[in-house]
Amino acid sequence: MLKTHVKENNRRPVINTQLQNYIESLIKRNVYEHDIICSKCRSRIRRELQSQTLVDVATDDDENCAQGLPGPAEVISPKTLQLSISSTSKSHRRCIICKKENTRRHRLVVVPKESATQALIDKGIFISTNSRCCPDHLIGKYFKQNSLKTVQKSSSSSYFNRTDISELLERTRAVIKDTGKLNFDISSSLSDDDYVNLTGLTRKQFDAVALHVKDLRNSEVRSVRTCLAILLVKLRTGLSNSILSTLFSLKYHQIRRAVHSTRESLIQSFVPSFLGFNHITHQEFSQKHTTPTAKTLFANDNDGTAIFVLDGTYLYIQKKLVSPISKDDI
Ligand SMILES: [Zn+2]
Ligand SMILES: [Zn+2]
Repeated sequence: MLKTHVKENNRRPVINTQLQNYIESLIKRNVYEHDIICSKCRSRIRRELQSQTLVDVATDDDENCAQGLPGPAEVISPKTLQLSISSTSKSHRRCIICKKENTRRHRLVVVPKESATQALIDKGIFISTNSRCCPDHLIGKYFKQNSLKTVQKSSSSSYFNRTDISELLERTRAVIKDTGKLNFDISSSLSDDDYVNLTGLTRKQFDAVALHVKDLRNSEVRSVRTCLAILLVKLRTGLSNSILSTLFSLKYHQIRRAVHSTRESLIQSFVPSFLGFNHITHQEFSQKHTTPTAKTLFANDNDGTAIFVLDGTYLYIQKKLVSPISKDDI
């Protein structure tokens, strides 16, 4: 194939990209649009490609998988390269973390690419495309800390194809490119002390609060965790939005929006259950949250009396340089 001595009337151009990719993987060199192939080879490869796609669809038992399958324009180059990178089990039926089976009641989801990269960077374990896991191992697109700890390798080496390797490089590159910014999504990115210094919360506390930020949309540029971090860092440090935008590698307006929407979300879903008079009963408060000293001093050791201290703290907020309100008005 692809020889110049192919008869004039028998030459066929390689215009189809699928065909082009497949021939490239067969002959291990670049194939260009002006290259030709004889009609016999062309139809043979066509048939081979078609049967390959059919096999891929047939071996997959779950309808969810259709989302992850490459479209007909892409072609799967064979996994021929063996590297000593450990990988998780190849089964699409079981969760790669807890091995639970996919059933109608317990639906597994395709492991997001971001968390696969996270596992590779943190643990050195490769998770192949279309692997599944239970949805509760994830926060947004990333694995939870304890889920990541339990990811187990099933083999110490794995087979890769060209797509795997180029994707792997591309995604690792993206992570390295982002190392300068504060990243609250990848656990290895910040230490436990960093969490306390930046947000005033420990990593565990941060995780807990992040679970309550529900009605906020995860987006490409900023995750729920990033939004929460932006708000907390702002509250703790009082840094201006422009400095925050540098720290988080985001645009000024994205910081502003993140602060606004996270605050709204916390007011909706977090505050009512943890702050204010309504989140706790009078009895629980007077019995468990009133100090013995206060009880003796103010209530003659009466268990039913609730005593609380009101305290005020100033929160510095940004004000426009040109503002109609002067300092004297505040
Ligand atoms: Zn030929
Ligand atoms: Zn699981």
